[in-house]
Amino acid sequence: MGRLDGKVALITGGARGQGAAEARLFASEGAEVMIGDVLDADGEVTAKDIGDAAAYRHHDVTSEVDWEAIVAATVETFGKIDVLLNNAGVFLVLPMAMTTLEAYERVIRINQIGTFLGMKAVMGPMVGANAGSIINISSVAGLRGSQGSIAYTASKWAVRGMTKTAALELAPFGVRVNSIHPGIVDTPMLTELTQYGPDVMDNIRARIPVGKEMGAEEIANMALFLASDDSAHCTGAEFVVDGGWTAGDIEPALPGAATSRSDIGYNA
Ligand code: NAD
Repeated sequence: MGRLDGKVALITGGARGQGAAEARLFASEGAEVMIGDVLDADGEVTAKDIGDAAAYRHHDVTSEVDWEAIVAATVETFGKIDVLLNNAGVFLVLPMAMTTLEAYERVIRINQIGTFLGMKAVMGPMVGANAGSIINISSVAGLRGSQGSIAYTASKWAVRGMTKTAALELAPFGVRVNSIHPGIVDTPMLTELTQYGPDVMDNIRARIPVGKEMGAEEIANMALFLASDDSAHCTGAEFVVDGGWTAGDIEPALPGAATSRSDIGYNA
């Protein structure tokens, strides 16, 4: 028995990266999945790999018309919509002084307005069914300031805030809304960082307590929990998957910092 048997999920930005991993995992757990993206070739391949349980449709999250069309297509193809995974996003690494209004607005339109439009678009069918789970992908950049990414940080804080308001408004109607806050995930999005040189990833890894980035399946596992009835009592909450990155600063030179197993009392 799958954890998503009988459920239908709509996943935005599902052509590659985390969205594709989520589509595969959801389908393997019994869900039927509508994948939207602007990368049509990749999206078609992802849906074809999954098989009959998945379909792909061109969908730009900034377009209200596209939202109306993909929600209608999901209901027409699979009969209903139980889960919306607002995953589509773009990253921009640029200091504030170099961020043009146009570049800022592009990130806000995709990451923030796309999420807002998505929640509005599925409200009708979900409230009508008195059930639903909306999962919004924010970031650790939605939990604190992130140097060199003002537009991205603003958009991900907005996603975190919108999640809470939507959760309050939709709880009486059986619809849950939660946010996931990934740390560094090994997907094509990381080229936005690696373009700045080979040392960037090593510097970041040195700040992550578990010492490495994660695979997309780590976020997919969290999304699976939120999509399933296992999380029936969770709404308006933040789910952090970051290898400890936001737990605090790593300061190995400070007195008291553990650097060996015996420092933490492990003597076996
Ligand atoms: P990715 O670049 O592989 O995937 C993002 C997907 O969104 C792509 O398929 C892209 O085509 C799609 N997309 C972009 N603009 C779109 C639009 N207008 N309409 C529809 N789809 C669009 O990166 P990813 O890591 O899989 O990112 C998934 C989510 O996770 C994003 O919201 C991202 O901000 C977030 N996130 C990523 C990381 C990371 O380290 N990779 C960390 C924290 C949060």
